[in-house]
Amino acid sequence: MYFKFHDPTKVFFGENVVNKNKALFKEYGNKAFIVTGRNSGKLSGALDEVTDVLNEQKIEYMIFEDVLNNPSTDNVKKAGMKAMEYKADFVIGIGGGSPLDAAKAVAVLAVNDIDPYKLFKNVFPTKPIPIIAVPTTAGTGSEVTPYSILTRDDMKTKMSFGNEHTFPVVAFVDYRYTKSMPYETTVSTAVDALTHAVEGYTSVRSTPFSDIIAKEVIRIFGKNKDNIINNNFDSRVREELLYMSMIAGFVISQTGTTIIHAMGYSLTYFKDVSHGTANGVLLKEYLKFIYDQLREKVDNVLDLMGVNNIEEVSALMKKILKYDIELNEKELDTFCDITMKLRSIKYNVKPLEREDAYKIFKESMQ
Ligand code: NAP
Ligand code: ZN
Repeated sequence: MYFKFHDPTKVFFGENVVNKNKALFKEYGNKAFIVTGRNSGKLSGALDEVTDVLNEQKIEYMIFEDVLNNPSTDNVKKAGMKAMEYKADFVIGIGGGSPLDAAKAVAVLAVNDIDPYKLFKNVFPTKPIPIIAVPTTAGTGSEVTPYSILTRDDMKTKMSFGNEHTFPVVAFVDYRYTKSMPYETTVSTAVDALTHAVEGYTSVRSTPFSDIIAKEVIRIFGKNKDNIINNNFDSRVREELLYMSMIAGFVISQTGTTIIHAMGYSLTYFKDVSHGTANGVLLKEYLKFIYDQLREKVDNVLDLMGVNNIEEVSALMKKILKYDIELNEKELDTFCDITMKLRSIKYNVKPLEREDAYKIFKESMQ
């Protein structure tokens, strides 16, 4: 065995962890820059709880609540400039993956006056300021990953950056903040976490330890399958889904993602399909594509999900994600061109050729 495992985020998981650990904020300075979405911070209750603690601790703060879904380089630059002017000591990201990823970009841009496209070079003249992450969705695991995934309009896709300095220093992970998520977001984000585990487990970068975590993620998804189908999200289920998504973050921090994510970005960019749903749509064809290479692992995935065969994966995804996407030939061509340029495709266990990408896109829409 030969592998590295690195995840420096200090995690506090459970009810009221923000309040219970309020003294910790002070360790990161006297001025916080809060990065959140238009609604997620408020609806989840997390923004109020965090600002109450900051007030109590006499920490000054400024709130940027204009993070868009799938944030663009322009969107994060706007926030980064405000954080720089404000001379923030640290950043607090509150929300789903979009605000958490934006917070990582802001942490870099608050102390580096650079064109946001330079973020993707992953070398920052000045070390980013510390990031505290408070998730309000249960899907991306961004609270424990170094990745920030941004929309690149120049390449008409999404791309990630991140290095060891963009791991959040602290994650406050409290399922109560996920209770306000509507059904569609709950399901789509749960499927995102599932695909992180499946891709990590089947990646050429998988490790014995990341595999243990990945299998646990898939098991928890399988265990909660009926709850997901039946819209039964009581506190216990919410907590399990949040735990599942966080530990799936530990998996992709080691392995990264593979072709599901790479291909899904086109569905999000051009067809406005939410991130998790885009991945769920492609899951069946992905498993079929890699089956001859990784039979045992794919069979384990099916077992843990509690389905009998790959076709049942597709039936399940259709049932819970309720998608209906049509792609014309021009779109298929464009999506394949874009996919083939993405670096994450090289971590796929089976090399992806353009005609494979075409087939996967096309068959996934059936
Ligand atoms: P999201 O884009 O952050 O949020 C989706 C929607 O849900 C938004 O409208 C958001 O509102 C709303 N929302 C969030 N929490 C809510 C709550 N508790 N109650 C009610 N509404 C809530 O969705 P996401 O799936 O969590 O994140 C997707 C992004 O993360 C993508 O850009 C994806 O590429 C990225 N991602 C990152 C990683 C990583 O490792 N960093 C991994 C996978 C995916 P607001 O508009 O108000 O925020
Ligand atoms: Zn994802």
